[in-house]
Amino acid sequence: MKATTANQISFRQAADELDLSETMRSLLLTPKREVQVQVVAERDSGEIATFIGYRVQHNDARGPLKGGLRYHPDVDLDEVRSLAALMTWKTAVVNIPYGGAKGGITLDPSTLSTRELERVTRSFVDAIHDLFGPDVDIPAPDMGTSAEVMAWIMNQYGKYRGFAPACVTGKPVEYHGIPGREEATGRGVGIVTLKLLSRLGRKIPGTTVAIQGFGNVGTHTAKFLRDAECRVVAISDASGGYHRADGIDVLEALRHAREHRGRLGGFAGGDMITNADLLSLDCDVLIPAALGGVLNAANAEAVRAPIIIEAANSPTTPEADAIFSRNNVIVLPDILANAGGVTASWFEWVQNRQHYQWGINRVRQELDRILGEAFEQVWQLSSSRQVSLRTAAYMLGVGRVAQATVLGGLA
Ligand code: NAD
Repeated sequence: MKATTANQISFRQAADELDLSETMRSLLLTPKREVQVQVVAERDSGEIATFIGYRVQHNDARGPLKGGLRYHPDVDLDEVRSLAALMTWKTAVVNIPYGGAKGGITLDPSTLSTRELERVTRSFVDAIHDLFGPDVDIPAPDMGTSAEVMAWIMNQYGKYRGFAPACVTGKPVEYHGIPGREEATGRGVGIVTLKLLSRLGRKIPGTTVAIQGFGNVGTHTAKFLRDAECRVVAISDASGGYHRADGIDVLEALRHAREHRGRLGGFAGGDMITNADLLSLDCDVLIPAALGGVLNAANAEAVRAPIIIEAANSPTTPEADAIFSRNNVIVLPDILANAGGVTASWFEWVQNRQHYQWGINRVRQELDRILGEAFEQVWQLSSSRQVSLRTAAYMLGVGRVAQATVLGGLA
């Protein structure tokens, strides 16, 4: 099932619970603007390469549009549209003053040199500079893009509009970024995992955790939970997984990945397992932190963990969600679990606009406060309305956007 359809199912369940009118549903589901642009850049060989770029600006009822920019061969309008809507609900769940957007270019960044990627990025900015900016739409990194790409975006945008660091977030710390932004998504995953364990009356020390994906999100999640005395029993990346019942030495795994271009391949600190084995491991908490759709009708019955934290975007298909609900597996949904990144992006934007710097402790404190409040609100709504945490999170997010739409008026 396409991600768009899965997200629309969650939207519909929340809209039914909220008793939203058909008019409001269609208003909230219809993107405000979708653009497709030609991105032309010179290759190092002197040849001209043409790519397709997208920006979908889904909804700005609650504030400027906000969302990542993805460079991946599978990027298409349907995917970008679905991820843009997800951003609208995500920023609303954590109650930060943004709407939702997403963008991307259909390309495989590993086939381009750094200079070629820079030219592609600047060409994309040339094509859309009228459509984004600090008060309009603020891009950020996503799959295939990095702090370096964000720096090029800020620099190119500045050629049109002058110094405007708040036009993009996720920039390098040395170039108007902030400390704590890079770790924020994984840290946020860890924060809400601990809150959920506490709410469920489970003891945190010794809780066993399996994490799929050892990139930005997976590594910071693993480190945070290890520091909280959880036992990370399995980790994996695209090359396969590693299991150790007594607990993986997370710092050793991080060191290995650092020394092997970010990859776990050859890690000696655990027994080798497949990614499929990892998903059905006997553990307390399963954290998919890599791809979408990994928990589906084919493998959901085999999942033995009683708690799933969705660190990746859309890792659970609706079919798997139904199976988890039947089997009393608790799923903490992506729009809350991985909202730490966009929350820290907001901190970066706020500081850029004030030309002021907070320091890492304040960033962490504010992150903890905002995610803690959002978690509590979702938990309370789920308990009082007897709905899943996913439906409760969507109710909170969709409800806030609907309310802002009514308050702002349509005329
Ligand atoms: P990343 O590129 O840094 O890391 C991805 C990891 O997944 C890598 O370790 C890669 O080897 C692994 N992987 C790839 N294919 C795999 C497979 N088939 N099986 C197992 N592992 C596989 O990406 P990231 O930034 O960590 O993002 C991970 C997920 O979190 C994505 O779904 C992304 O959309 C979501 N997310 C990221 C952020 C963020 O701030 N980075 C914020 C919100 C959501």
